Amino acid sequence: MTDVCQFQKRLEKYLQFPCLLKINENRSTMIHLLERNRKEVRLSIHKMFLDAPENVIAAIAHYLRGTRKNRSLYDQEIKNYIHINLERFDYSHLLNKQELLTQGVFYDLEKIYHDINHQYFNSSLDLHLTWFGKRWAKNRSRIVFGQYLTTLKLVKIHRMLDDPFFPEFFVSFILYHEMLHAHVPATLDERGKCHIHGRAFKEQEKKFRYYREAIAWERANKDKFFK
Ligand SMILES: [Zn+2]
Repeated sequence: MTDVCQFQKRLEKYLQFPCLLKINENRSTMIHLLERNRKEVRLSIHKMFLDAPENVIAAIAHYLRGTRKNRSLYDQEIKNYIHINLERFDYSHLLNKQELLTQGVFYDLEKIYHDINHQYFNSSLDLHLTWFGKRWAKNRSRIVFGQYLTTLKLVKIHRMLDDPFFPEFFVSFILYHEMLHAHVPATLDERGKCHIHGRAFKEQEKKFRYYREAIAWERANKDKFFK
């Protein structure tokens, strides 16, 4: 566990006092202050941080000391690091496959997924799919059509789209966009800012056969589904 020791040394350099570590593989709480007394702190931290760059170590130290001058900036540095690094971990074996529903009333996600995977990704993607939400959602103003959960390799599509009001090319486009997240990972720029829809992503997104139609359709129909 030499990298743990190295990490400890690097962190203590910023902290100026001893820090005892517990390494976790949590999926949500990745940094957790266990105890702080006059002599030392005890910290539970995700293993992804063991090889974190200097700015992230410094941000963690500021977090522990409560000396963040610009709180949101330091928090953002840690968050960005987590976001990028989560892609190195695969938790998809933890999914309960029985809860994944792909057959809809009008659209079969599995079929659309296979067509897109074949046409655009050489059938190289190996993802899980499910509908989520209610077909007749009440508060439609806050709905996201699709989501991609990296660690679970899971594409979630809102059930509201399982309706003939939404043309198939539009539903396919939403699926394509989420699948593209598995293909084009988020990147950090030189300032440490995270880009989920970076340039490479946007260029690839335009390769969807009905890209222009899908964008135009969404623009023209927005008022009808977001009340
Ligand atoms: Zn996206």
